[in-house]
Amino acid sequence: KRSHTRLPEWLKTPIPANDNYKRIKNDLRGLNLHTVCEEARCPNISDCWGGSNKAAATATIMLMGDTCTRGCRFCSVKTSNKPPPLDPHEPENTAEALSRWGLGYVVLTSVDRDDIADGGARHFAETIIKIKQKAPTMLVEALTGDYAGDLDAVSLVAKSGLDVYAHNVETTEELTPSVRDRRAKFQQSLAVLRAAKRAQPSLITKTSIMLGLGETEDALWRTLRDLREAEVDVVTFGQYMRPTKRHMKVEEYVTPETFELWRQRALDLGFLYCASGPLVRSSYKAGEAFIENVLK
Ligand code: SF4
Ligand code: SF4
Repeated sequence: KRSHTRLPEWLKTPIPANDNYKRIKNDLRGLNLHTVCEEARCPNISDCWGGSNKAAATATIMLMGDTCTRGCRFCSVKTSNKPPPLDPHEPENTAEALSRWGLGYVVLTSVDRDDIADGGARHFAETIIKIKQKAPTMLVEALTGDYAGDLDAVSLVAKSGLDVYAHNVETTEELTPSVRDRRAKFQQSLAVLRAAKRAQPSLITKTSIMLGLGETEDALWRTLRDLREAEVDVVTFGQYMRPTKRHMKVEEYVTPETFELWRQRALDLGFLYCASGPLVRSSYKAGEAFIENVLK
């Protein structure tokens, strides 16, 4: 509680309450879908779920269980070398529930599964194929891990019919070893993003960067240039928030003005669009941004 009072003003958010948000939350009951939005108590839920246009409403669903084989120093997801096996019915059940929900834009994400030969790529791709069969107008973004650099796995997901392929570099190359799990490499993540684009050039590729971890301005510039060279279309910036005392500490609370500056810089470098702000998460209003910038 005390640390909360030290948060800058711009990170204190009201409890979501608009009508659209309540309606969508109601729709979700009985569908047996686990949204990251609710489970992580994301402060953006009324913005993402509750916009005026249901066709743009965005939610994030977690696939392949709640236990990750990696342990990144910023992340509060449970870790184990041997998570429970995949649920073979998950692709079908997820697609069925999503089609009944009638959401505009879904972000599918997952834990990393280094314990499975293809990292779960086939399972992920199958889920996307089934969603597109049952709900052809639903826009689908996959936010995947790096598949330990297995570019065939990346290609399988990239060719599954999705609209946006996202993989987060999270931070600059310099900070990667101290922020992400030791199996994650900045260059490997760039290779994943490049491979997704090559496998399916009509895809929008996307990545997300946390600010406030001690990154330097020079290193951030380099990161953005590297991402453009890997033909990444979209970047988002958000503030790193420490989940618990056991996680790495926040080096800096970046001001909204600085977030806006980086948004402008990203656009100047040629990114198609950029969401940037203290509370922005990689899926923040992703549906609205896609509709405004890609479909129009
Ligand atoms: Fe859900 Fe992502 Fe929006 Fe948060 S930012 S409400 S997790 S879609
Ligand atoms: Fe968390 Fe993803 Fe890292 Fe797993 S790979 S610990 S889910 S950030």
